[in-house]
Amino acid sequence: MDWVHCNYCGTKPTQIKMFLTFCGHVFCQNCVAKAKSRQNCHVCQKPLKTAEINKNMSPECMDFFKDVRQIATEAVAELKHVVKFQQAQREFFWKVKYSQAKRETEMFNEARNKHQKALQEVEYVIFFCFLSTRNVRSAGHATRAKNSWQRAKICEAQSQR
Ligand SMILES: [Zn+2]
Ligand SMILES: [Zn+2]
Repeated sequence: MDWVHCNYCGTKPTQIKMFLTFCGHVFCQNCVAKAKSRQNCHVCQKPLKTAEINKNMSPECMDFFKDVRQIATEAVAELKHVVKFQQAQREFFWKVKYSQAKRETEMFNEARNKHQKALQEVEYVIFFCFLSTRNVRSAGHATRAKNSWQRAKICEAQSQR
């Protein structure tokens, strides 16, 4: 704090108490006493309100006397902390979206499988109805019936095109 000095007489804070005014000026104890008698700041003439510059100052006042490199280091650390937090939040968002999409895909696949199974069952029922109209008595009969059933299906598919 080599820059701290009384803004009125130039004294450095080596043996004397120093004060910060609410208007942002610094005075030694002697100059504060002189200013108090006239009740105005020596520099800007505003009404005088002071706080002694020491370790018990309010944090807001203390900030003015901090080493700027220390403030910069603290600001960078805070910034890193904030960036890390926001990055984690973005990752959480994509994790949530990914698991939702995965669940939806699983539900879709399950529904499609059920639908295909139901279609297959209907097809079997139709096939057995078809077999019963053909008076199937043997395995050979069944194979021929099945072949003609498949041909009928192909013809039906072609006619629908
Ligand atoms: Zn002074
Ligand atoms: Zn002032």
